[in-house]
Amino acid sequence: MADARKTFSPVEIQRDHQGQMRILWDDGHACLYPYAQLRKICPCATCRELRMPQHQAPANPFQVVTTVTTEKVHPVHLSAVGNYALHIDWSDGHHTGIYPWDMLRNLCPELLPVTPDHPTA
Ligand SMILES: [Zn+2]
Repeated sequence: MADARKTFSPVEIQRDHQGQMRILWDDGHACLYPYAQLRKICPCATCRELRMPQHQAPANPFQVVTTVTTEKVHPVHLSAVGNYALHIDWSDGHHTGIYPWDMLRNLCPELLPVTPDHPTA
């Protein structure tokens, strides 16, 4: 972290079907990303707007935002965008999410509480 602007790239991205995506980074660090969380933090303009404060009451960031999140969503297709980002096609039809590597790296759930997010529908 002291390295200014050190950028990391994934060497391997695995979709498993346990509700998480696994990224192995070029420094050997592996991170697991729950799909629901990835979907919720989708950085596209539409989703960012939905997360704007005027669209919702002040919320616990870990609360499920119903306008943005589909509980059982999973990626149907992953593709690299140039050499800087991951494009995710979601099972709910949302396909404008581009996740820059540095964003994903910063989100490494080692820094986040990973909670089993399986509401009993
Ligand atoms: Zn989005």
